[in-house]
Amino acid sequence: MPDDRPHFFDQTPETLADLCAGWGLPRFRAKQVFGWVYAKGVADPRQMTNLSARDRELLADRLRFVTGQVVRHQNASDGTQKLLIDWNPAPGSTGVSLQLMPADDDPPPSDQTECVMIPTAGDANRRPRRTACISSQVGCPVGCKFCASGLGGLDGNLTAGQIVQQAWQLQQLTHVGRLTNVVFMGMGEPMANLRAVLPAVRTLAAGWGLGLSARRITVSTVGVPAGIRKLADLDLPVTLAVSLHAPNDQLRQQIIPWAEFVSIQQLTDAGRDYFAKTGREVTLEYILLGHVNDRPEHARELATVAKRLRSNVNLIRYNEVAGLPYARPDDADVLRFQSILKSAGVNTHLRASRGRDIAAACGQLRHEAAAV
Ligand code: SF4
Repeated sequence: MPDDRPHFFDQTPETLADLCAGWGLPRFRAKQVFGWVYAKGVADPRQMTNLSARDRELLADRLRFVTGQVVRHQNASDGTQKLLIDWNPAPGSTGVSLQLMPADDDPPPSDQTECVMIPTAGDANRRPRRTACISSQVGCPVGCKFCASGLGGLDGNLTAGQIVQQAWQLQQLTHVGRLTNVVFMGMGEPMANLRAVLPAVRTLAAGWGLGLSARRITVSTVGVPAGIRKLADLDLPVTLAVSLHAPNDQLRQQIIPWAEFVSIQQLTDAGRDYFAKTGREVTLEYILLGHVNDRPEHARELATVAKRLRSNVNLIRYNEVAGLPYARPDDADVLRFQSILKSAGVNTHLRASRGRDIAAACGQLRHEAAAV
């Protein structure tokens, strides 16, 4: 029997207060419970000691708190940590196995998703960051040709509560401190699950929730113009990252199946609207695939697109996925590509790959035992 009790991480203080009132509890219980979960990191009502024993039991009975089960917790040599969450665990299963350096990274079955904590040391110009990379769907419907997450297609959408819970669990279980950033760059296309992603973003940014600055929340998309406009309507200055990955429609359609439905021109129009409404510069994400999209002419075309959008560009070296025919680009090609963009006046960053030894890097998260 599916457990259809409400999930705490789906709630706002108002909806939980309504539930409490319906259960005969005072409405202010909701505020107390929110304080326990988000401020103190306690999600077991039996440990909420300023609630009466009766109310603790009632909440434990009526409300689900942490759903799903962390079935694997991996640590990479660079400090990156990855959780595998089973959203439909078998009755009686015991939960987490802690692995320091796995010999191999068995792909998880469906109903499971991965999320990653990426701690980054600070320097003279930047404070340390603790970035949660979370998933919005089980699998992904887009099927980018180079990506592990899209290999098995889409198995389902996560709820808002399941999305928020990933960030909360990363904060609690990785013991690196409070989150500073969240990126929707795990499994899934956030714009294909906006019904859950938009309320999740609100909870991540709310003072009563995880309390992140909206600017430090990045929603990454292959580009769905209607979705980009709905995100702008949220009226939060969330960072929008568009995964371009190719500088012209022809090449883009070869590696991103959804590019057939949306041209780069339509994407840049939606990106300009986003900037006009939120004041946030759009970031273009560009995975460099060796000898596919990393040629000098591609860099020159990309510079034209970036300038049209007035966006900055994040370059990411491709991380190999077993069974896929793409290669990591040569260092010399990457530097030449970056230098062409910079010479054209485009603000460009080369992102470091993190967590490669536990397959936690960009495009390496996967969700099912695909034939690779
Ligand atoms: Fe989906 Fe992103 Fe992978 Fe493309 S790169 S298949 S959009 S998860």
